[in-house]
Amino acid sequence: FSTTHQVKPQKICVCVRKRPLNKQEVIKKEIDVVSIPGNGALLVHEPKQKVDLTKYLDNQVFHFDFSFNETATNDLVYNFTAKPLVQSIFEGGMATCFAYGQTGSGKTHTMGGDFTGRQQNSAKGIYAMAAQDVFTHLNHKRYANLELSAYVSFFEIYNGKVYDLLNEKTKLRVLEDDRQQVQIVGLEEVYVSKAEEVIKMIQQGSACRTSGQTSANANSSRSHAILQIVLRRNDRAATLHGKFSLVDLAGNERGIDVSSNDRSTLVETAEINRSLLALKECIRSLGMNSDHIPFRLCTLTKVLRDSFIGEKSRTCMIAMVSPGMASCEYTVNTLRYANRYILV
Ligand code: ADP
Ligand code: MG
Repeated sequence: FSTTHQVKPQKICVCVRKRPLNKQEVIKKEIDVVSIPGNGALLVHEPKQKVDLTKYLDNQVFHFDFSFNETATNDLVYNFTAKPLVQSIFEGGMATCFAYGQTGSGKTHTMGGDFTGRQQNSAKGIYAMAAQDVFTHLNHKRYANLELSAYVSFFEIYNGKVYDLLNEKTKLRVLEDDRQQVQIVGLEEVYVSKAEEVIKMIQQGSACRTSGQTSANANSSRSHAILQIVLRRNDRAATLHGKFSLVDLAGNERGIDVSSNDRSTLVETAEINRSLLALKECIRSLGMNSDHIPFRLCTLTKVLRDSFIGEKSRTCMIAMVSPGMASCEYTVNTLRYANRYILV
């Protein structure tokens, strides 16, 4: 890959990113079962057993638009995924970038980056890099005559309810008017004049997202977080020009993990599965240029309605996978979900 390579945005782009084995996995001598030979391919070497109990590796191959191995930086991933979409919002389009995968596979690392300050070289995420590019475009003479301003919203969907991450997790209602426009009533949409302001809001919102959360109740892995960068014209009505939605999806592992007897966990699981299936339906309809987009299926697809409508909509899905053998089942599950888009 070359980072200077120009990528033409496709209507739907599906990529996969493998994270490195982490320290604990290395200590536990976890085996890496994912390999990336290049050209968008990814192989999973799943350990299996025959009837006579002899063990063998079942090699499965999956294909994507791009596949990133464990040495890929956030920068590289950004250049091939979200970066080509920034242009499209200036051309009046709706762009959406999703991070999909099991908890711990690298969704938040990729989207939000590491803002903890614990790491020396805090890696910037796609949120921050997209914000920077939006301002580069805004300040470019090519777009000066459009007279646009940028605004930011940041919210979370948990159990089908919307919570504002820029306003102390205030619970908000989603309404659809008679022209099918979807509105999140009272959602903060803050005017921003430079990338640093957006980055500060991402930090605030991310902190708000994880506050009051214990590891036994890791809410953030069970919610979808959506950062929206909205372009509006500088007219009296602040007419919508384009919108970039960057989505850190809830962990998809719950579909497999049905061991819980806890009712609230079961409700949570059902809601996550329902929303991820609805998302798949909407992206598939978008890919087929269908007139009917089933966006009413759940809150996630409802609030992203604009992303699925219109000629100029562009979507990128980044499927995240953990490399370890212990995650094999989840990994294959993730790859199957993401693989289906290519078949449309
Ligand atoms: P998720 O949001 O999918 O639950 P995280 O992004 O929180 O997962 O990642 C889990 C852990 O793995 C974090 O400590 C994160 O810093 C680390 N991690 C994830 N992806 C990478 C990567 N590509 N390189 C290095 N560390 C990573
Ligand atoms: Mg996360």
